[in-house]
Amino acid sequence: MKNAYAGKGLRIDLYNRRSTIEPFTEQMRKDYIGGYLLGMKILWDEYRPEYGAFDPKNPLIFCTGPLTGTRAPTASSLTCNTMSPLSKTFVSSRAGGHFGPMLKFAGYDYVVITGRSPRPAWILIDDDKIEIHDARNLWGLKASEADAAMKAIAGSDEFETLLIGPAGEKLVRFAVASCNIDRAFGRGGPGAVMGSKNLKGIAIRGSKNLGLANMKRFNAAVQKNFKELEERDPWSWEGMPKVGTAGWMEAVNYYSMLPINNYQKTYDDKIAGGIDHNAYLKNFEYRKYACGNCALSCAHYIPTIKKGKYAGLSSGVLEYETAAAFGARCGIGDIQAVAKANVICAEYGLDTISCGSAIAWAMECYERGLVSKKETGDIDLRFGNADAMVHMTELIGRKEGFGAILAEGTSRASSIIGKDSGKYAMQVKGLEMTATSPRASKCGAVMFAVNERGGHHMDPYAPTIEAYGYTIAEAGIPEALNPYEDGNTGAVYKLKNYTKLADILGTCAFAVINVQTLPDTYGEQFSAATGIEMNGKELLKRSEKLTTLMRAFNAREGLTAKDDTLPERFMKEEVDVRVPEENQKWTNGKTLIKRKINLRKNLRDYYVAAGYNMQTGLPSRRKFEELGLAKVADNLMARGIKLA
Ligand code: SF4
Repeated sequence: MKNAYAGKGLRIDLYNRRSTIEPFTEQMRKDYIGGYLLGMKILWDEYRPEYGAFDPKNPLIFCTGPLTGTRAPTASSLTCNTMSPLSKTFVSSRAGGHFGPMLKFAGYDYVVITGRSPRPAWILIDDDKIEIHDARNLWGLKASEADAAMKAIAGSDEFETLLIGPAGEKLVRFAVASCNIDRAFGRGGPGAVMGSKNLKGIAIRGSKNLGLANMKRFNAAVQKNFKELEERDPWSWEGMPKVGTAGWMEAVNYYSMLPINNYQKTYDDKIAGGIDHNAYLKNFEYRKYACGNCALSCAHYIPTIKKGKYAGLSSGVLEYETAAAFGARCGIGDIQAVAKANVICAEYGLDTISCGSAIAWAMECYERGLVSKKETGDIDLRFGNADAMVHMTELIGRKEGFGAILAEGTSRASSIIGKDSGKYAMQVKGLEMTATSPRASKCGAVMFAVNERGGHHMDPYAPTIEAYGYTIAEAGIPEALNPYEDGNTGAVYKLKNYTKLADILGTCAFAVINVQTLPDTYGEQFSAATGIEMNGKELLKRSEKLTTLMRAFNAREGLTAKDDTLPERFMKEEVDVRVPEENQKWTNGKTLIKRKINLRKNLRDYYVAAGYNMQTGLPSRRKFEELGLAKVADNLMARGIKLA
C-alpha cells in the first residue's frame, strides 16, 4: 500500500461460501472517498426497497476511510451500512477500536457480505487467507465468550473480532455488532442483520504496511490537526482523557438537555448527581481505554465496581449515552444499576441507547396505565425502579416475556400495545432518539427531525454547538446561534455536511463534534496521504453528496418530508428549561424559561437553506448533477418522485 488505500474490496457470499476481490479504482476513490459515502453508494446500488432488512440480499457493508489506520488524530474508524431492521431506513454506524485499521492492514478498503449461510458461520481473514468456518459451537455464546473462542480457534490474540451476542442471533431489532466487545456498531440493528445471515462474527489479522503518498507533508498536517484539537476545544482535549464522556452528564443537566423520565423533564440535579463523573469516581476503579491511535481517549474501561450490590462486576466501557439511557431516561440516579445494565447489553449485544429508551417508554406507559403489571410479567415498571430496569434489560437480551415486545423497538412495540402509547415512543423514523432533549436547542430539534437515519445525534452535534456558542466560519457558521429562538436553522445543513467529513475520511466524530478540525486541514491530510489533491471545499462537496445520497435512499424507500418530524411531546408540552448564566444574554437575563418547539418554522428555514422541495425533502436535479449523482436523480424521477 503506497497511498493510504489498499485499492481493493473483499466480497463474501455466505450462501455459496465464496470470497472475491474487486478493485477500488482511483476514480471510485475520488468520487466516493470511503466510509459512509462509499458504504451508501454500495447500498444504493445493491439494495432494493422490496428486499427488507432480513433478506439475504441485503448487503452488510463495512468500509474504512482513507485515513483509517494512519497517524491522523482519532483515525480508527470502520463504518457499517445496511438496511435497518429497526428503523424505516438504513443503518449508518461507525465503530472505533482496532478492527478498522486491521482490515486495512490485511489489504482491504472494505468488505461486503451477502447471502445467508445455511448454518451458523464465522469468517476468518488472515491477510490473503479467507475462510468460512462452522459456528454451531459458537452460537448462543455471549460476546466475551465468543470473542475468546474465535481467537482461540484462530490461534492468536492478535486477531481483532467483530461479532454478535445472543440478541443478534435472536434478531432483537436493536442488536449491535461488537468490535472486540469494547466498541460497537450500535445504532439501527446491524447485529440483527448479521444474525439473519447466520453470521456469528469475523476475526481478522493483517500484516501489511500502510504507506502514504507524502509522509513529510502528512506529518505536518497531522501536527496542525493536533494543534486545532487542543486550541479550538480545550475542554475535550484536557477533560476527555480524564473522565471520558461521563463528564458530559453534569453539563447536559446544567444546560437543560437531559431526557429525564422519557423526556418529560429537562433536568434533575439528584438523578444527574447519581450518574455523573463524580459518581463514576466514587463507585469505580478504572483505567483508560482508547481506540487505535487515539490520543483523545474518550472512553474508560471500568474493571470493577468497588462496593455495593454489584461489587466486583466488570462493567466495560460506560458512556454518557448509556448512563443517560438507563439512568436519566428511566429516572434512576444509580450508577451501579446503570453499570449492571451496561454489562448485560455488552454480553447479549444490545444497543444501550435503544434498550434504555424502550424501557423508559414502557415505564411511562406503565405509569399512565397503558401497560399493566400482568403484561410486564409482574414487574413494577415505574420510573426510578432500578431493579425493574435491570431485569427488563435481561429479558430484552433473552427476548423473553415483555422483553420480547420491547426487543421490537419502541415504534413497533407501540403498535403492539396500541392505545395512546405511540405518543410516548421517543423515536424519529423508527430509531430511538439519543439523549439530548431538544427544547434547549432549536438546532438540536432540527438535527433530530431531518436526520436521514432517524433519531441520531452525531449528524451534527448541534446542541453543544449552540449551548457553547462555537463558531466555524469555514463551514458556514460565522457567529454563535441563539438556542432558544425558533427559526434561523439553515446553519444545521452546513454543520451537517461539515460533520460528515469525519465519517467519509475514517476519523472519529470527536475530531469534529465541537468544530475543531478545519476542513482544509482534512484536505491536507487526505491529499498528503492519498496523492489525490482535494481541499476542504471539495471534501465538503463529497459530504453534501453523502447527505443527498442518504435523502435519495429514503425517498426510494417511500419517506417524504412528513418523516422529518419529532415525537409530538416536543411541540405540545411546554416544559421548564434552565438557562445557564452564559446564555442569559439570549433570554434578557431570565434564568428559567418555558419551551416547546416550533418545528414547522425551524424545518422551513432548514429546507430553504438545503434547497429542498417542501413535500419530498429532496434537492433539485441540478444539485444531483452538480454532485455527480445524475443517475440517482434519474432513478427517483422514473419512480415519479419529485425533486425541487
Ligand atoms: S475519541 Fe473516543 S471513540 Fe473516538 S477514536 Fe478516540 S477513543 Fe475512540
